[in-house]
Amino acid sequence: MLEIHRIPVLNDNYVWLVHEPVAGRTAVVDPAVAEPVEAALRRHGWTLTHILNTHHHGDHTGGNLALKAAHGCTIVGPAADRDRIPGIDVALADGDRYALGAAEAEVFDVPGHTRGHIAFWFAADRALFCGDTLFALGCGRLFEGTPAQMWRSLGKLKALPGDARVFCAHEYTQSNARFALTVDGGNPALVRRAREIDAARARGEATVPSTIALERETNPFLRADDPALAAAVGLPANDPVAVFAEVRRRKDSF
Ligand code: ZN
Ligand code: FE
Repeated sequence: MLEIHRIPVLNDNYVWLVHEPVAGRTAVVDPAVAEPVEAALRRHGWTLTHILNTHHHGDHTGGNLALKAAHGCTIVGPAADRDRIPGIDVALADGDRYALGAAEAEVFDVPGHTRGHIAFWFAADRALFCGDTLFALGCGRLFEGTPAQMWRSLGKLKALPGDARVFCAHEYTQSNARFALTVDGGNPALVRRAREIDAARARGEATVPSTIALERETNPFLRADDPALAAAVGLPANDPVAVFAEVRRRKDSF
């Protein structure tokens, strides 16, 4: 059973520390910076063995080289972007499996935010590390991909079991909720969730991880195939890519 800890860094990034106790492996997912990771390792008495990178952005890879220099850890990242992942040792693509000691991740290619973006799915632990592809109530901006690509990528994550825990890389949930209400305010599950998020943030609590079941029900970017959402943005119900593109366009200027 993986032990997973949140390391909040920068303004709103979450770095995830993942410990596999059987073989004694410890991975860090998307280390934006090195020092808070070092502090967390010292606190737990763990030795870093792996870095798992979802994509190349600096707020996900900025700590790679310092951590590798200090620990000699193995850096794992997207094959499609191997040239842009500092220090990469192992390049993975859709359908690959990667063992972290006794735990195993299935890898999905999820392009859209960047052209090479992967997600790590530890099925036995119901843990999904999805970087900037799927957020709680949101999705990543389309810097290097098309709406059709991102919709397909999100579809892979949406198809995971409902109890899959979504470990995304940013605490954007409250502002995502404000936007979501503008396109899907008639969704009672969303209204309820938005209230819970406001209460959690007022208490200073994190809203990540969420679950796939919750995202399916309330995340407008996963609901582009729902006739109610299509109607709400004034588009026909039979073209989810167009609905997704419209929702993403509105969010970009929200
Ligand atoms: Zn990013
Ligand atoms: Fe990011």
